[in-house]
Amino acid sequence: MKLLSLIVICILFYLNITINEVEGHHRNCILLAKDIYDSATKELSVAKDRQMLVVTNIPYTIRHRQECAVIVEELSRLTGASQSKGNLIILQDSPTRPPFVYLYYPHRDKAIYIELDKEVKSIKTRYPKQKIRTLLSKEDHFEDLKRERAFKGNEYRLIMITSLWTKGLINNDIINAVRLHNHYCPGVTSGYHIGNFILDNLPLSEGQGYVFIALPMWCKDDALQVMLDISPGKRSMYAIPLKDSEKACLKEEAKDIAGIVFRYNRVAKEGDWVVLSYEWDKVIKDAGASDSMRSLTNAVKLTHYMMSARDIYKKYVAIIKTAKFNPNETPEDYIGIGINTLEKLGLYKEGCK
Ligand SMILES: [Zn+2]
Repeated sequence: MKLLSLIVICILFYLNITINEVEGHHRNCILLAKDIYDSATKELSVAKDRQMLVVTNIPYTIRHRQECAVIVEELSRLTGASQSKGNLIILQDSPTRPPFVYLYYPHRDKAIYIELDKEVKSIKTRYPKQKIRTLLSKEDHFEDLKRERAFKGNEYRLIMITSLWTKGLINNDIINAVRLHNHYCPGVTSGYHIGNFILDNLPLSEGQGYVFIALPMWCKDDALQVMLDISPGKRSMYAIPLKDSEKACLKEEAKDIAGIVFRYNRVAKEGDWVVLSYEWDKVIKDAGASDSMRSLTNAVKLTHYMMSARDIYKKYVAIIKTAKFNPNETPEDYIGIGINTLEKLGLYKEGCK
């Protein structure tokens, strides 16, 4: 009996230490959030109650210090930034990357980049000499920023998000897509266009769900995942790459193919499929941009144009071909080992294998 009591006391003692330790870490993380906020407000001379943009990868990069995810909540409380207001953006990131918080204060057009060590114990602050509008005005300024590694390799994604946010062009669909895709770019915006086309023109009937084949795949497919609630794990999304030699085999009407959307009822085993195209050349031309996607100023020009109106997608997304399923057919009959999806859809040239 004595031994049992001793064991119970030891367990309780151990649990108490562990709980205290976790609570201690938790408190330190809250203090760290305060340090981040104080550095930002001091460096950027933020006036009280002014809006800031906050971008962070913290929930994805502090895997072994989960209690520190509270930093995001605390920063939201201190800055007033929130996901629903569209000025708190959490980016998915590689777990090996350093955690960071980026804060942009539009009133002074200045940004600050704060990196945390992997143990989440200290912060290092960096801020670019240039104002953000200066960076966006000339490619050379942005190239300088990249060379300086002012945001430790996050320059493109942070400036792209800032440029869209300052123009008031950001919305929930884009924020959700950017979170998964981990950056904002013209490619993910084309997915937003295709998603809007599908939602507006290809509604589901009772019992149906979307299944999408990304063919070929590009950044767009991450926007489609969040807009249509499709994913490989749910058997509602597949992806097929397209080699140049295979592209050469596409029939003329399919040269701008972006993917195939199925509207399918898995219980009734019926539905239809629609092959969609996306006209990249046309959108680039209409925006007065070029196809140089590595150029920041070009990507900004293109994306601002692409986000300038909700229904702008109508000019660039089109239906190539559509048909109903044969009896008992499933979307998986169109994709798999040994199946040439394009041939099955009648979009491959004669003689191509
Ligand atoms: Zn992208």
